[in-house]
Amino acid sequence: MQEITISQAREKTRIWQEQGKAWHFHVLFPDCIFNTQNKQYAMVLEDRTSIETFVIYSDNGFAKISQEFLKLHYGDDILKTRAGVVSQERPANTLLAQCEIFKQNKVLWHHHMLFPDCIFNDHPGKWNIVMEGSGEARTFNALYDEEPMDDFQEIEIEYFKEIDPTFNAETQ
Ligand SMILES: [Zn+2]
Ligand SMILES: [Zn+2]
Repeated sequence: MQEITISQAREKTRIWQEQGKAWHFHVLFPDCIFNTQNKQYAMVLEDRTSIETFVIYSDNGFAKISQEFLKLHYGDDILKTRAGVVSQERPANTLLAQCEIFKQNKVLWHHHMLFPDCIFNDHPGKWNIVMEGSGEARTFNALYDEEPMDDFQEIEIEYFKEIDPTFNAETQ
């Protein structure tokens, strides 16, 4: 995994998006199960088209840049609450319920959307959302056959409410 700077990451993601590459990224907390460095936050960027993986390490949680990259990848509406969307009965209700428990207990939590071809995915071929609470040995996850955009979007919005005091999930 090659270490790069934030400005290099900006340049790479812009080019990947322009070229239609299958790319995605992850933010790994210092205590994250996927963080092998274990001292700092890591942002991992994967270009699955060219099978290249890059990493940035930082003492901060990449709150702003991850919002920027999400919008680049999914479009500007990704972090806006959709008016009139009612939660369906679905696996991530468990994750969202767990998220509420973390919030009530003031446990810092984060999650990962693992793409079917993601280097961290123990269930290749499935979409896999993993949720972790700081200091909790247990992880929570939900597997999907199709890209779970509704669940992903709800969890992302809850996540940025937690980590970014200036975040405002305006309605689309
Ligand atoms: Zn993690
Ligand atoms: Zn990945």
